[in-house]
Amino acid sequence: MKKLRCLALLLLTVSSLAGARTPQWSGSALVRVEITRRGNEWTADYQFDREYPVWVFPRTDVTRDDLKSWRPSSWSVETRGVRIEQRGSYDVLIAHRGDVPRNVRIRFTPFTKGLQDDYTPALQFTDGSVALYIAQFDTFPMASVRDAKALPSDLNNQVVPDAKLTYVLRDQAGPVWLRGKRQAVAETDNKDAYVFFGSLQPIETPAMVGFVDPQLPEWIRGALAQAIPDILARYTQELGAPPGGKPTIMLSWAGPTPGLTSRAGSVLPGLIVLTYEGSGVLSEEEGARVEGLNFIAHEAAHFWLGQTVAYEYARDAWITEGGADLLAMRLTALEHPAYDWRDDFNKSIGDCVNLTKRRGIEDARNRNETRAYYACGAVFGLVAESASGKSFFTFVKKIIDANRVDGIVTRAEWLAALDSASRKPDLSRDIARMLDRGVSDPKSFIASLFERAGVSQSIDAQGMPRLP
Ligand SMILES: [Zn+2]
Repeated sequence: MKKLRCLALLLLTVSSLAGARTPQWSGSALVRVEITRRGNEWTADYQFDREYPVWVFPRTDVTRDDLKSWRPSSWSVETRGVRIEQRGSYDVLIAHRGDVPRNVRIRFTPFTKGLQDDYTPALQFTDGSVALYIAQFDTFPMASVRDAKALPSDLNNQVVPDAKLTYVLRDQAGPVWLRGKRQAVAETDNKDAYVFFGSLQPIETPAMVGFVDPQLPEWIRGALAQAIPDILARYTQELGAPPGGKPTIMLSWAGPTPGLTSRAGSVLPGLIVLTYEGSGVLSEEEGARVEGLNFIAHEAAHFWLGQTVAYEYARDAWITEGGADLLAMRLTALEHPAYDWRDDFNKSIGDCVNLTKRRGIEDARNRNETRAYYACGAVFGLVAESASGKSFFTFVKKIIDANRVDGIVTRAEWLAALDSASRKPDLSRDIARMLDRGVSDPKSFIASLFERAGVSQSIDAQGMPRLP
């Protein structure tokens, strides 16, 4: 079995709009949560500014493998009279009677399985080190369980009650690492990060700080040590400086599970997190090396397309995911002349065709067809590149530079950029149609887009457009 996965800021809009929310409370709740490791024991001590009827944990999700909610098998409430239950779409903290007290202790076991739509709560390194995703501890209060139950499953852009959290992270055994800094106790109000607990020494180069599992197969360690700085340097040259300082890369190894080849990655501001697993990645071979390079190139592209500029709504993920896919194909081809990007691109065409017949790309998420964002986004990227007569890097750089200030690229802005680069408004009109409701014959529709954009293609016996 082969698995490849990227998770890039699908939930970014929740936090990015925090300032624009209208709190339903008169003033926001204040929460301090202290997360402590003592040997193998982990606790989260919540201190709430006052008693509320219910606390909602917005980062509630199911695992990818068995679709079970993750928190019940990881967290247990130690404070008497308080429990965690799922109500509606979210885990909530409630008291057996009355309000939740101001101090609540939770014991937990770091949860290391991948989630459907959210960052993996913890990465386990083989030397015992652990990286914890801070936002799993996020919470906000509500006036009643009924209100909590009525919350929509997708909190993106919803008006939700406000809470100001301070996260305090400490390890009895020594310092912790947060955002490239080693600290005796880390304190932050920015939850979009992994904090590193353990004695593993990071590898520091001028381009990055790397936490690399000591048992990760040697050839992967070597290939990445060289490739990551190259990739970052090349993107910087093409797209401008990335936001923030030196990025951190965390590479964990989940073991040589037989029959599996798995790479899972996610990106947060200034941080790329990758987990490798399976017997399939043990031996060094050219195909796996190129695939690995392409994968990292995709993740690294999100420092620009995803972080320097983000999408407005999750339904616009085709801009960032498809864009990162095409940037990665272009970059891998530059770094690795043997790589044939057309093979990968033809897979994107095939998948986009399969996922857009009479159904819009924007809704793909609700149908568990998120692949459509990657595949069709790359197809639209190639249309933009070809119609503009310049490289895709140039097209992306324009979008980034035009939107650096507000940090958001909307669908309308992307389509307008295509209009101005192509001077053919029928292209953006047709792309909008695929985004909204799909088309009855995606093969010929895409072939026609390609033709008008000047993409050189051949049509196979099944009518499928292909890059020759
Ligand atoms: Zn991605």
